[in-house]
Amino acid sequence: MTTTSRLSRAVGAVVGSAVGDALGAPFEFGPEHAFSARFPHPGHGGEMCGGGGWEPGEATDDTQMAVLVAESLLERGGLEPPDLFQRFQRWAAADPKDIGLQTEAVLAGGDPWDIAAALHFQTSGRAAGNGSLMRAATSAVYFARRGRDATMDAARRIAALTHGDRAAWEGTAVLHELVRAALDGDDPLTAIPETLAEVHPDHRDRYAAVLSPDWHPDLATEFNGAVWPCLGSAVWALRTTSSYEDAVRSAIDLGGDTDTVAAVTGALAGAVHGADAVPPRWTEVLHVPLPGFGERVLRVTELAELAGRLNGRPHRLTAP
Ligand SMILES: [Mg+2]
Repeated sequence: MTTTSRLSRAVGAVVGSAVGDALGAPFEFGPEHAFSARFPHPGHGGEMCGGGGWEPGEATDDTQMAVLVAESLLERGGLEPPDLFQRFQRWAAADPKDIGLQTEAVLAGGDPWDIAAALHFQTSGRAAGNGSLMRAATSAVYFARRGRDATMDAARRIAALTHGDRAAWEGTAVLHELVRAALDGDDPLTAIPETLAEVHPDHRDRYAAVLSPDWHPDLATEFNGAVWPCLGSAVWALRTTSSYEDAVRSAIDLGGDTDTVAAVTGALAGAVHGADAVPPRWTEVLHVPLPGFGERVLRVTELAELAGRLNGRPHRLTAP
């Protein structure tokens, strides 16, 4: 039994992801355990320190793109891929402080929305980054009420806008489904086997490996900027902790792509533990600039409001 409401879990997923992103950003590409070396005592404050070009509490491309996804879904009343792609392009053209290499190549290449990512994958052969996983909190909340198939299908379609490799689609679909389980009040770790059964057969074994209870981030065969170890690390952080705060601390302490691993961890841990588990000292400085969309900067109240609207029942899955 649980007393955490669905709304609290939805806000926890969206705000929790944004907080993880902002908390991890100054430690990007740093060594392991840099975070706990600097902040050895959980709960003592000062962790939203900024650095590496980021202001304290400033969310990065992960959250900025998640907000673009949210606003497209809500304003269009469903998933309208050309609209979302156009918003991504407008944002990318406004010179955001950070943008994934793959994402930038696809959005700036000038190719139509329905073939841009596939063309890029065809020529580069590399499109299994974590760039579609990082922005998934909002769409996961939006599609959750439609059930597993709709949730995983939408995740794949949104991922495919920037990532041509099905590995990225499948990983994003898994994350969507685990968030959906958490919003229902279920344990996402328990939902892993049935979720894996829905993963494309060509990709199932690799996800089964990184989502296994005996997997550890040290076993990763790629840098955690790749989709598999990023998702595996987030699930590991959730599995090995019992609070939102400890989960994101563990994620950032892995080093590497700390903002994104913490954003993905934060989405899961926020959905599991609820909005009240996200420390206010972190949310009060949180802010999300939206390059290309005026001078807008979203604060936690706007993010929570957005999460509430995403949590409301969508009228239809796909806009006409
Ligand atoms: Mg980022």
